[in-house]
Amino acid sequence: MDAKHLGDDLTVVLHTEEELRVRLAELAREIERDYAEEPPLLVGVLKGAVMVMADLARELNFHAQMDWMAVSSYGVGTKSSGVVKILKDLDADITGRDVLIVEDIIDSGLTLSWLKDNLESRGAKSVRICTMLRKPEALKVEVDVAYVGFDIPVEFVVGYGLDYAEDYRNLRDVAILAPHVYSGE
Ligand code: 5GP
Ligand code: MG
Ligand code: MG
Repeated sequence: MDAKHLGDDLTVVLHTEEELRVRLAELAREIERDYAEEPPLLVGVLKGAVMVMADLARELNFHAQMDWMAVSSYGVGTKSSGVVKILKDLDADITGRDVLIVEDIIDSGLTLSWLKDNLESRGAKSVRICTMLRKPEALKVEVDVAYVGFDIPVEFVVGYGLDYAEDYRNLRDVAILAPHVYSGE
């Protein structure tokens, strides 16, 4: 879906589909170089990372096995709770494997820092993070992120997998959601 179909739900498009594609291809080249010896297992975090995972995995010129986790740290609102719960765990045994977590966005960093520790504690050989978006000014914990698409301002964004109350995930671009949509005005 294009932004033009959303009326006044969005205030500004931050990154177009094309910008996301070009940046993801750059990240893929870095990832190929860094994992020249052995491809990592890509671990996508449902549901937001579905688009990044689909595009990144196809951009990578090596075998890209994919696995998925679902964790929740947000309800239907727009603020992080800091409480992380596993809703769906990995299928793969990651003992001794290089793992690359694929994420849509890092906001407070609470989810990712928890997830990285969790995967490391299972005996992964290495755990790195690739995120399409990051809000550097919203970080509450230090998270070492190996690959970042774009740093964005502290605004609630939707599109390219990111939702508000399950809507807007299929918007092609990343855009700032107009506050009237979630403040109920
Ligand atoms: P964190 O734990 O880093 O605060 O954020 C965890 C999750 O919150 C992200 O994976 C994402 O699902 C959601 N989230 C954070 N910021 C935004 C945002 O601006 N828009 C949307 N739609 N979700 C967000
Ligand atoms: Mg996410
Ligand atoms: Mg969400």
